[in-house]
Amino acid sequence: MQLTDIKIEIKQCILKNNLNSCLECGKCSAVCPMLDFYGEYVYLRSPRGVVERLSLAPDDIEEEEALWYCLTCQECTFFCPSGVEFQTFMMELRELLLERGHKKYAVFCHDCGEYLMPKKEFEYLQKNPDKGKLLGDLLAVCPRCKKTGYAEALHRVTPIYKRV
Ligand code: SF4
Ligand code: SF4
Repeated sequence: MQLTDIKIEIKQCILKNNLNSCLECGKCSAVCPMLDFYGEYVYLRSPRGVVERLSLAPDDIEEEEALWYCLTCQECTFFCPSGVEFQTFMMELRELLLERGHKKYAVFCHDCGEYLMPKKEFEYLQKNPDKGKLLGDLLAVCPRCKKTGYAEALHRVTPIYKRV
């Protein structure tokens, strides 16, 4: 697969998930738990930052570490007034990057080798015993319950997070 092909696929993914419909309202960044989870605000990691970055210049996306911080909790998608499917976009984008061999920001299952989660998220959970307890709970439920439980759990471990 050529580099140009992945750029075409990324553009299709952007269109499919309505990233071009962004109104720049900032609601997604306001509800996103990443700030509290990682303890710092970095605009390029935020939903709004990623939407803007990819809309303007989708070049060198394979080297974008900022694309591997999203916790895929779906809060931004839920609150977006313009139908931007950011969580789905991030999952599809990562799948695309992994398929093309861009694996340095990802963690894989020690047993089967399947993709587990972004490296930053994994390292953060490993370094924080309290938050690391989330992993056991999450692995014990089905994927559908995991989505709901994950968002709720992220809010529990980020007490200063305020829903808008
Ligand atoms: S909530 Fe939706 S419309 Fe608003 S900035 Fe985020 S992606 Fe754009
Ligand atoms: S899916 Fe969750 S963690 Fe990712 S950008 Fe949206 S609100 Fe933030």
